[in-house]
Amino acid sequence: MIPAASFAGKQVSLFGLGGSGIPTARALIEGGAQVLAWDDNPDSVAKAAATGIATADLRGADWAKFSAFVLSPGVPLTHPKPHWTVELAKGAGVEIIGDIELFCRERTLSVPTAPFIAITGTNGKSTTTALTAHILKSAGRDTQMGGNIGRAVMTLDPPKPDRHYVVECSSYQIDLAPSINPTAGILLNLTPDHLDRHGTMQHYASIKERLVAGSETAIIGIDDSWCAQIAERLERAGRQVIRISKRLPLTDGYFADGTNLMEAVHGRYSKVAFLEGIGSLRGQHNAQNALAAVAACLKVGLDLGEIQSGLESFPGLAHRMEQVGRKGHVLFVNDSKATNADAAAPALSSFPRIYWIAGGLPKEGGIEPLRGFFPRIAKAYLIGEAAPAFSATLGEAVPYEISGTLAKAVEHAAHDAAKDDSGEVVVLLSPACASFDQFKNFEVRGEAFRQAASAIDGVKPIGGAR
Ligand code: ADP
Repeated sequence: MIPAASFAGKQVSLFGLGGSGIPTARALIEGGAQVLAWDDNPDSVAKAAATGIATADLRGADWAKFSAFVLSPGVPLTHPKPHWTVELAKGAGVEIIGDIELFCRERTLSVPTAPFIAITGTNGKSTTTALTAHILKSAGRDTQMGGNIGRAVMTLDPPKPDRHYVVECSSYQIDLAPSINPTAGILLNLTPDHLDRHGTMQHYASIKERLVAGSETAIIGIDDSWCAQIAERLERAGRQVIRISKRLPLTDGYFADGTNLMEAVHGRYSKVAFLEGIGSLRGQHNAQNALAAVAACLKVGLDLGEIQSGLESFPGLAHRMEQVGRKGHVLFVNDSKATNADAAAPALSSFPRIYWIAGGLPKEGGIEPLRGFFPRIAKAYLIGEAAPAFSATLGEAVPYEISGTLAKAVEHAAHDAAKDDSGEVVVLLSPACASFDQFKNFEVRGEAFRQAASAIDGVKPIGGAR
């Protein structure tokens, strides 16, 4: 745990006791603050109280005495409308912050030189965070990973010189971290997302920009126009910017040339790493993630040999194009995290011949946006409520069956793929749907896929990601 000494001797109110709330309250108490915590859910309040955290309905509190109000990132700060606690804090002129802000203040106070890599973007945050932490760890660096992935940031070990922090930040967390100041800040990409919570794309982009604007070095994926503009703006303001592109040669920065990762310095290119043969980093989207990780690791002083060996041993993350098994020329890939068409696109673009398991609880737009990938699909196996709509979209373009259940789909797809003699083929679960019609969540769905694949005679499990 990182004791939050920046509020020692002060009174702090805190709202949101699920997830990171309780460890954040504990870190404040450990640092010497007096914390008064609350949640709209009585069970969460009871749980916090049971661990010795003082709780009270903050409607009745004297807000004038609070030095800060710590809000959980899951609670609306601005949209669709500010939570009632936000109104009370603003009314009393109390600053509103989150756990990432507490971490930043603590690091700045205690060991400002401790390398800190912060990662955001619409897609690829978790992969890039896990990859960066993995490369650092495998190079023998003391590495702590957390934030929006794995452990809440204040539960990490306290800063000390040469301890590296790799922290995934959602837009909600950045919104609550006004002084975020990483050594290297990564902004991967920006596409419309969570606009219900951010109002407009402008507002969403401006929050993400704050992470790189506060960085010593800003690493920015410039393949979309929002991020390209942010890179220009920061550079004009005199900040150190490293551009990355998954598809374009750059004059300066890092870019992907097929599976080669290149560095460009004033238009001269050199190869810094490669992804050829690395199953956990297939696809152009992963080239973007890897470029960002490489740039950040170089920034904190790793050499190219250390970086390449970290890339090669990266196990990948569960449920994101995760290789779970193989039988001869048939690879089984679990991409259960792909809960809409946009998220399924990277997997469909990464394999040339696919036995595709899709369906579940349908999302607006269905699989129409994936039409460009239909020629890669040898056959589709449709499950769940979306099956009739998906079959209508596939029409004559792709052979399909309505398998109904995931178990049947895996069995049939494996059977058909085994007979395919066109080289390596993949049985891919990339459902383009939510899971809730048949499973508790996407993780349970992915696990069911793994088990169904492993149960097939002759399938050898590929471990690592869990
Ligand atoms: P996040 O943490 O931002 O949700 P993840 O790393 O968990 O991202 O990846 C989730 C899904 O997003 C992946 O399964 C893949 O389909 C897609 N994805 C991953 N990286 C990228 C990227 N750089 N650009 C676009 N899509 C990506």
